[in-house]
Amino acid sequence: EAKSQGRNTWEWYVGDVDSTVREHIELRRELLEAVEQNQLVLFYQPLVDAVTSEMTSLEALVRWRHPERGMVPPGDFIPLAERTGQIIDLDRWVLRTACHDLGRINAGREEPLSVAVNISPVHFRRNGFFDEVKQALDESGLSPEKLELEVTEGLMMAGSEKAIELLQNIRNLGVRVAIDDFGTGFSSLSYLRQLPINKVKIDRSFIHDIDTGRENAAIVEGIITMAHHLGLEVVAEGIETDSQRSDLVKRRCDILQGFYFSRPVPLEELLKLPQQLPEA
Ligand code: C2E
Ligand code: MG
Ligand code: MG
Ligand code: MG
Repeated sequence: EAKSQGRNTWEWYVGDVDSTVREHIELRRELLEAVEQNQLVLFYQPLVDAVTSEMTSLEALVRWRHPERGMVPPGDFIPLAERTGQIIDLDRWVLRTACHDLGRINAGREEPLSVAVNISPVHFRRNGFFDEVKQALDESGLSPEKLELEVTEGLMMAGSEKAIELLQNIRNLGVRVAIDDFGTGFSSLSYLRQLPINKVKIDRSFIHDIDTGRENAAIVEGIITMAHHLGLEVVAEGIETDSQRSDLVKRRCDILQGFYFSRPVPLEELLKLPQQLPEA
């Protein structure tokens, strides 16, 4: 009895490791084809003006429409793509597609929107990134002020001088830069002063209990005050309730994003959303 149990455990263990490795290799191979076979899709999530609730910009969020697995969220393949280097092709595709889509999105609008694209540190650090940004703008004819790049604070810590210089070159093009998931890394607020950026996006882990948790509320208030002193706009991500919304308006947050206003939606659905959110 004990013996057979032991054997089953061993078989289960080996079987599991084996299938994990196999799945990893398979996923890696499939990801290679994803770009060419048109399996990547961009969803767009609106960001709204905190005071008016009017849509002002969009964040492009990639999904993988996998032939067997269905719609795969970025958390399930971005880390793998970063390890294998495939993220560079992937992010390049996202950048070009988002710039291109925005032309179509803005065609029917009175107030043109801007679009934010997430850039992996792996990609940002690579030579040639600056030229890719320029190329995406040239190809699409998008005016540079309508493009925003979201980078994480960890990137800035690691990259130092070289990263700051690249950021400055990107800013000189007219492209805007936001620090994503702010508050989760190790950078101090005073460090922000050295960075040629426009915006900070407060991570949603600080937002979910903003209206009840005193500590997070204090942190959020600190970030907003300091960012404003530095002339930066502040975005709060992950707003799910009206109570969180009003709390952030009270604390003078500039821009809001979250399921409360709209989930990330495919392009066709986005085109149907009203200018003011949430939809009645
Ligand atoms: P992120 O850049 O911080 O994007 C925001 C994430 O929060 C998105 O998840 C969005 O769907 C989710 N979110 C927005 N509002 C709410 C809310 O009210 N509640 C909750 N619970 N979640 C909300 P998503 O689309 O799964 O993306 C996850 C992460 O994957 C992104 O985090 C970003 O780091 C990465 N990512 C997505 N697209 C790309 C891409 O094209 N390139 C790269 N390099 N990374 C990407
Ligand atoms: Mg982002
Ligand atoms: Mg974020
Ligand atoms: Mg986040």
